[in-house]
Amino acid sequence: MDNESGRQTEAGTTLACPGWCDGRHPDAGTFHYGSELQLNLPGGDGQPGRPLLKLALMADIKTEADALTPPSVDVEGMTDQELDAAGLAGLMGELERYLASLRDFQRRYGEVADAVRKAGA
Ligand SMILES: [Zn+2]
Repeated sequence: MDNESGRQTEAGTTLACPGWCDGRHPDAGTFHYGSELQLNLPGGDGQPGRPLLKLALMADIKTEADALTPPSVDVEGMTDQELDAAGLAGLMGELERYLASLRDFQRRYGEVADAVRKAGA
């Protein structure tokens, strides 16, 4: 029996969606997918921003033992990848370093833009 809160397993038992699953996966399978955390580029001219990076929990849970295994982190961006907890920590470190570099980039951009304005004044 399939419904939004339970999925038929190969063994014939029904396992409920894990708490992190949004229950919106259309297939009556065992693959569960959580709510997405998405980073978009800023939009402009009335257009929405384009997606840059998306993260979501995911797992294929066919057995009770599968349900005791932590889900993977699905990463979709310029490349798609699956991460575990250590990989997610690594990604966060990269993003923190990137944000620091982005702030420096913003400062340098401001200096360049000011210099161009002054040269044109
Ligand atoms: Zn589910």
